[in-house]
Amino acid sequence: MTKLIPAKARVVIIGGGVSGCSVAYHLSKLGWTDVVLLERKQLTCGTTWHAAGLIGQMRASQNMTRLAKYSADLYVKLEAETGISTGMRQNGSITVALTEERKEEIYRQASLARAFNVDVREVTPDEVKAMYPHLNVSDVKAAVHLPLDGQCDPANIAMALAKGARQNGATIIEGVKVTSVLTKDGRVTGVTCEQNGERFTIETENVVNCAGMWGRELARQSGVTVPLHACEHFYIVTEAIPGLSRLPVLRVPDECTYYKEDAGKMLVGAFELKAKPWGMDGIREDFCFDQLPEDFDHFAPILEMAVNRMPMLETAGIHTFFNGPESFTPDDRYYLGEAPELKGYWVAAGYNSIGIVSSGGAGMALAQWMNDGEPPFDLWEVDIRRAQPFQKNRTYLKERVSETLGLLYADHFPYRQMATARGVRRSPLHEHLKARGAVFGEVAGWERANWFAKEGQEREYRYSWKRQNWFENQRQEHLAVRHGVGLFDMTSFGKVRVEGRDALAFLQRLCANEMNVEPGRIVYTQMLNARGGIESDLTVTRLSETAFLLVVPGATLQRDLAWLRKHLRDEFAVITDVTAAESVLCVMGPKARELMQKVSPNDFSNEAHPFGTAREIEIGMGLARAHRVTYVGELGWELYVSTDQAAHVFETLEEAGGDVGLKLCGLHTLDSCRIEKAFRHFGHDITDEDHVLEAGLGFAVKPGKGDFVGREAVLAKQNQGLTRRLVQFRLADPEPLLFHNEAIVRNGEIVGTITSGNYGHHLGGAIGLGYVPCSGESAADVLASRYEIEIAGSRIKAEASLRPMYDPKAERVRA
Ligand SMILES: Cc1cc2nc3c(=O)[nH]c(=O)nc-3n(C[C@H](O)[C@H](O)[C@H](O)COP(=O)(O)OP(=O)(O)OC[C@H]3O[C@@H](n4cnc5c(N)ncnc54)[C@H](O)[C@@H]3O)c2cc1C
Repeated sequence: MTKLIPAKARVVIIGGGVSGCSVAYHLSKLGWTDVVLLERKQLTCGTTWHAAGLIGQMRASQNMTRLAKYSADLYVKLEAETGISTGMRQNGSITVALTEERKEEIYRQASLARAFNVDVREVTPDEVKAMYPHLNVSDVKAAVHLPLDGQCDPANIAMALAKGARQNGATIIEGVKVTSVLTKDGRVTGVTCEQNGERFTIETENVVNCAGMWGRELARQSGVTVPLHACEHFYIVTEAIPGLSRLPVLRVPDECTYYKEDAGKMLVGAFELKAKPWGMDGIREDFCFDQLPEDFDHFAPILEMAVNRMPMLETAGIHTFFNGPESFTPDDRYYLGEAPELKGYWVAAGYNSIGIVSSGGAGMALAQWMNDGEPPFDLWEVDIRRAQPFQKNRTYLKERVSETLGLLYADHFPYRQMATARGVRRSPLHEHLKARGAVFGEVAGWERANWFAKEGQEREYRYSWKRQNWFENQRQEHLAVRHGVGLFDMTSFGKVRVEGRDALAFLQRLCANEMNVEPGRIVYTQMLNARGGIESDLTVTRLSETAFLLVVPGATLQRDLAWLRKHLRDEFAVITDVTAAESVLCVMGPKARELMQKVSPNDFSNEAHPFGTAREIEIGMGLARAHRVTYVGELGWELYVSTDQAAHVFETLEEAGGDVGLKLCGLHTLDSCRIEKAFRHFGHDITDEDHVLEAGLGFAVKPGKGDFVGREAVLAKQNQGLTRRLVQFRLADPEPLLFHNEAIVRNGEIVGTITSGNYGHHLGGAIGLGYVPCSGESAADVLASRYEIEIAGSRIKAEASLRPMYDPKAERVRA
């Protein structure tokens, strides 16, 4: 039946899978009228209809867990609200570990779950056997039980959300394909669509791309980056097994499998280590409730392990061999938010096989975001602004997603690096570093030297939850920075020029620190949102009266550019990404001055080149701009060098460095040094929901300079007092390690989590940062408490400090 297509809407949601239905449900709940959802065929006909329906609440971070918990609660309530049975039952879940390393991982997760208020219990193999009598537990090392996890009927969840949306006034039309998104002056103005061969236009200022595996291509047509690619995902369903009673969901990640009992049958699904990308040449126009051909050879190794794990499967006949496509992303995380390229173009797609459990919460968060113009809490992990433009490349995506599917159940070791689709973005020094033992990691496509192997040492990570094979390399690099001089390649920094007549006024409005400084000065600052939360953490160097250089982490560049562009009004200022134009070589350590003086005729004394200033210098036979700043807490210079001269400058430094013991250092050392100094890391310690004063960055905020975004919130917090503080911790026992997400225990009670951690090779123990609630308390009260950090169930005594434990008076930096 043809349904009337409205000429106008407040929002057009593209795609009627669980994602689109959830966004429609939540927007209409918020009182949005004129919500229109268009589905090219029938609701749920893409990926949603065939999902296994596992609802696991425990996710990698507090906010992701919050969203998953929200989904589970919503799915329980939806039935009463809409009359559609969602099949949601909270029968619990068990995850078993078959190795000691996995045991550490699931126990660490259990500690984290407790910190997030998720009900969790470590259980013995015997207890597992009691709950799951069919399971072979002979080699099970440990297990955790989450009693409130569960399973559901995914298609009905989507149908219930759709019905709930309709009940609140949304219009949902099937059989309408969106053919293009119309734009004018950088913003969405409408969509064109097709129904039964007829073409229509809907005027709208907002679209939401919920098109699942179609989402990348749809976005590309509008110049928007949504890097995702489909992979084949397999499960089997057995014939009914006599006597099979209700069972919890079971995950055996070491065998890449999950098990779900449903109506007396077993469903066994796989996240195999090497997946099969699908749909490289596009998706058939008539795709609707389709399945892909079975591939028994591919599934056989999984099935073999499953039969050993659950011997009753040997005799149970296979009723269904299912293979369906699902979209995966380069980092295994979905996309949410407004695309930086186009105003009014929103995305909720790329769910990496957890779209059912995620969509309830994600739809709520996105609706809130669209309604308020800002996310309800930190969503950086899944923010569409983390996508890199190059990641649209299909060859890259095809290779990468063959790995990301399996990562769902792979060991989530700290520092784990992607193995596929590497080497896309390289510093001009890449080959130099490689020849000197660099072992690379990847961030935003950039290859970065994480540590340097010694002569004859294996140049590969050996992952573990204990000390990894590069621990000693890091120690030596770290101590070289503290006592001698180290050289880091930080070419991956994002570099943005803001220039023009109004550049100063524009930056004054966006940055919390004073920007009206002499040319040549470097200012450490944050860009805040209206709540005083930190949107960006950066240094701004005034190059001239009208030109500024903004330096940001490589991972946040797209987000930072988007923030700048979004806030540019009619000021005359031009924003240009110049990241690829300059390499950055950081010379750091007490002997940095001695080294600089060997390679340059310029004067590097405190008088000639004080902290917080930038100067052009001669170096070797070339030129650089030397910035006297540091992220490791030592005397040092960041040398910004035109990329064509980077190799020359590197060779010059290396040759002269022999006399002063110059050591090449990697990113792991940068991180271990910065955490001793309690320098914050964006995305971990500071996010858009962390108030700049509570993050301990008040020294970089100048409310007296006049108005800027976030000033009101700064003044309000000054009046009301802090409700939490970012504290630095050092474990008393030098053995255990902190990575992040360990639980902070204050006077015997869990009060938060470690936001970032590394090993303090100088301070002699693991160091972490984390927020401690402190309403109505003074700094002294906070420090007077007894602290422990809970790691995988064990509590370790920790010293707490609100001032950097390393060089609290910054004497070394200004040396
Ligand atoms: C075998 C398998 C098992 C899974 N098990 C689980 C599980 O246990 N738990 C879990 O949480 N997740 C699971 N998933 C993942 C989950 O199914 C997906 O993440 C989720 O369904 C994705 O929903 P979506 O709405 O993003 O995409 P889809 O369901 O694919 O919806 C996208 C819709 O957009 C429509 N569309 C596309 N282009 C247009 C256009 N131009 N105009 C109009 N409409 C358009 C499509 O027709 C489609 O209906 C599983 C997936 C698979 C394959």
